[in-house]
Amino acid sequence: MKKTLSLILLLILATSAAYADLSVHFLDVGQGDATLVVCDGEAMLIDGGSPSASQFLFTYLRQEVVSLSAIVATHPHDDHIGGLAAALNAVPVDVIYSPVTTWNGKTWKSLVKYASAQVTPIVIPQERDSFPLGGATVTILHCWPEAWAENDMSIVLRVDYGSTSFLFTGDAEKMSEYMMLTERVPLKADVLKVAHHGSRYCSSPEFIEAVAPSWAVISCGEGNPYGHPHEETLRALAGVKVLRTDQLGTIVFHSDGQTLTVSTADVHEVTATYIGNRNSMKFHYPDCASVADMTEHNKVPLASREDAIALGYKPCGSCKP
Ligand SMILES: [Zn+2]
Ligand SMILES: [Zn+2]
Repeated sequence: MKKTLSLILLLILATSAAYADLSVHFLDVGQGDATLVVCDGEAMLIDGGSPSASQFLFTYLRQEVVSLSAIVATHPHDDHIGGLAAALNAVPVDVIYSPVTTWNGKTWKSLVKYASAQVTPIVIPQERDSFPLGGATVTILHCWPEAWAENDMSIVLRVDYGSTSFLFTGDAEKMSEYMMLTERVPLKADVLKVAHHGSRYCSSPEFIEAVAPSWAVISCGEGNPYGHPHEETLRALAGVKVLRTDQLGTIVFHSDGQTLTVSTADVHEVTATYIGNRNSMKFHYPDCASVADMTEHNKVPLASREDAIALGYKPCGSCKP
């Protein structure tokens, strides 16, 4: 009897540890954005980094989740949608939210190809739409498909869990910030994913003041050629705890609905057994002569033959297993 009781107690404890928890993973995808939000067993991915992050994202998702209730492609730039084909290959996805349903470019086409293979719809969300993710609430604050500047198309959304909150801004620039401030959308949040990798075209002092975050996360690549994050942005964030993926790698927040804790996780690093060429969609051993001829931009690290094939790559004739 006592044994049964302690077993039940153990089960209850195990269940409450696995559910009743929100985790937000700001993934280190180099120069780009990808955030995995997991709440009470349900998951959502906001952006998927650049194509070179494909294998990392694929492995991370396979380890952390079994499906995605939603993917939010904030806007169709390569550093945000590049890894989304890999995400669709990793796990089933219910719906993709995007400010556009058609777009020119190879990366978008590959996203559409894998979305259609899964019969996953691509939907333009309405501002103020909200949906549950486990016990959390996701709210679309801004979506501007007609924006002249592509970054301003960015879907801006918030996640509320108990009294804790996160704001995700994609690459939304100052015009979007101005619109949200004018419309008085609820911006106040504990954690701000800083827009556009910390560029000076976003994060106006008025916007930061309205969000009034305790933490700000900047997702950018080490030594990136754009000089992200810019000085002006860091100045606007004075007094806020700033965490950067180029310095810390992947950053994970946990919330129990009341308190936030933060940790860094680097357990999902990819060891490249193969290098894929995202242009030819062939994969090679790192010492294959073709790899030397590849531009850095086209190189995609791949962990195994199985992963490479699952991601749509074909083996190079001279790189036999
Ligand atoms: Zn962008
Ligand atoms: Zn970007």
